[in-house]
Amino acid sequence: MPNQKFVCPYNPTHVMKVTRAHHHIVNCRRAHIHKEFVICSYNALHHFAPEDEAKHLETCPDRIALIDAIHVTYGMKSVITGNLTMPPPAQRHFEDHENWDSD
Ligand SMILES: [Zn+2]
Ligand SMILES: [Zn+2]
Repeated sequence: MPNQKFVCPYNPTHVMKVTRAHHHIVNCRRAHIHKEFVICSYNALHHFAPEDEAKHLETCPDRIALIDAIHVTYGMKSVITGNLTMPPPAQRHFEDHENWDSD
């Protein structure tokens, strides 16, 4: 989405292309450091007032995308774990045999 417009959270009159946002927000944060805005853990372009943190984390599109990805991964893992509840019998037999020999 390179044509998407970025609206600066420090000053809504700062509207620019997303491609310029990273550079801008670093400078603008310095200029508004007294606001003590919080930076989103999921997207460095999401700056918000501490009192807005809970609201932002609820609606952050990057957080929602990440949770979706974790759910997909977890779903796959649980399928694999289900298959592994029974250890491969051939390998187990081999290990038992090794112990018998060294005893
Ligand atoms: Zn700005
Ligand atoms: Zn965010």
